[in-house]
Amino acid sequence: MRIPGALMLGLLSFAVSAAQTQPGRSFDIYVIDVEGGNATLFVAPSGESVLMDTGSGGPDSRDVNRILAAVKDAGLTHIDNLLTTHWHGDHFGGMAELASRIEIRNFIDHGPNTQHPNVRAEEFLANTYPSLYAKSRHTVVKAGDRIPVAGLDWRVVTAAGAVIRNPLPGGGHPNPECAHFQPRDKDDDGGVENPSSVGSVVAFGKFRIVHLGDLTWNKEFELMCPNNPIGTTDVFVVSNHSLVVSNTPVLVHALRPRVIIMNNGIRKGGRPETMRTFYTSPGLENLWELHFSLLSGQEYSVPGLFIANPLDDPMSSMPIEPMPPPVDEYLAREPRSPPPPPHNGNAYWIKVSAQADGTFTVTNQRNLFSKTYTARSAP
Ligand SMILES: [Zn+2]
Repeated sequence: MRIPGALMLGLLSFAVSAAQTQPGRSFDIYVIDVEGGNATLFVAPSGESVLMDTGSGGPDSRDVNRILAAVKDAGLTHIDNLLTTHWHGDHFGGMAELASRIEIRNFIDHGPNTQHPNVRAEEFLANTYPSLYAKSRHTVVKAGDRIPVAGLDWRVVTAAGAVIRNPLPGGGHPNPECAHFQPRDKDDDGGVENPSSVGSVVAFGKFRIVHLGDLTWNKEFELMCPNNPIGTTDVFVVSNHSLVVSNTPVLVHALRPRVIIMNNGIRKGGRPETMRTFYTSPGLENLWELHFSLLSGQEYSVPGLFIANPLDDPMSSMPIEPMPPPVDEYLAREPRSPPPPPHNGNAYWIKVSAQADGTFTVTNQRNLFSKTYTARSAP
């Protein structure tokens, strides 16, 4: 049988691309519970790793131990890249201890702290950070940069307050959500470092995940309007722990995620307004949460199957009504609210394992409930 030249070429290029993507080797992402901070570990099929943020630290090395458990599960002996999204304590708090316990080869950030005063960050940047990267590398990224990670296409879409202007592949179309956008008077409730977050869009073959750190409401509009430069995504890790000062429909609904993962805390994120935005997101198949949120109550919560972490002292029943939010949603600093119930015991991650064809599996480490989302056929 003669194979037409064009078909032969097609078969050859298929063989080449299949070899390059090494079928069977997955892109793994661990969304680690750091109690409403952020620590997300990305492990490329090549073995190269990016840790995004180091949690707040917590008592007794809590967050660092949890990060190192994921590092061990992934079979890593060092961390290639530590990407710090911004200079808030719930994102860099564990860094110094982590760097003392495992080799980190490249420290990536958006540049200097942009919030004043921000005493903890200023002290850390002046006295600690330079000594951590002195023995390795330090990279400052800006919007539009690529972070080289073997096997992944890692794009920086926001950094230091700037947003990309040139669309990514699949992006650039008008965003109909922009017509309904309501700006907030103040976009810096949690401090102006949030809108400076390094935001990432990461692709592995046909699979995509978006994680924008703690990007805020008005900055989401700047990024996503009038045209959506990103297009759609398979997985969206919520912005700013799902706080109401982030996660506009302009962003969430335009990305059309199949899966949303919340890096929330027991009483940080999960308020009714934001949950409504998630539940009405077109094409959403499931919402997964690192924690049951008291601010959701049963009324707005997902089923326990999709929640990775309970409290140290489990409640005999989940309250039906959402709890009223603390006066300051950045609750750790709110003296009038009692502290949230503790969770310093066993902690569980939510893991995503993606294939180059776009198929991915999400697993709740606590109950081992796992669901596979088969690749979407080409539109
Ligand atoms: Zn945060």
